[in-house]
Amino acid sequence: MQRDDCLFCKIIRGEIPSSKVYEDEYVYAFDDVSPQMPVHTLIVPKNHYDNIAAGIPVEELGHLFAAVEKVADIKGVREQGFRTLVNTGAHAGQTVFHLHVHVLGGAPMNSGDP
Ligand code: C5P
Repeated sequence: MQRDDCLFCKIIRGEIPSSKVYEDEYVYAFDDVSPQMPVHTLIVPKNHYDNIAAGIPVEELGHLFAAVEKVADIKGVREQGFRTLVNTGAHAGQTVFHLHVHVLGGAPMNSGDP
């Protein structure tokens, strides 16, 4: 269930290059092209959902968030801590309409950081 015209669907299919961090049956994770922190990785479900308010089944949602710990481990931030962020819709500034979880870390953050 992917979209031909979706940027992140194209990344999942390998039609657009990405810096892969982790992949399993349900999710694909890659480093953000414009990192806001030393560690800035995006985790996306392989099936297309516009955002977290677009009917993703709870099982797929579970797999998406289960990947957060794996990515934090791979990127070396699991012990020191990290931030997860999910933007949803216009008021939140969502720019790519394929659900994604930001994993941000690698340095101390305060409330003004992403
Ligand atoms: O949550 P939001 O939709 O604002 O975030 C989209 C993210 O996708 C941005 O952090 C942006 O840098 C990233 N991006 C990317 N590769 C692209 C286009 C956008 O990593 N080709």
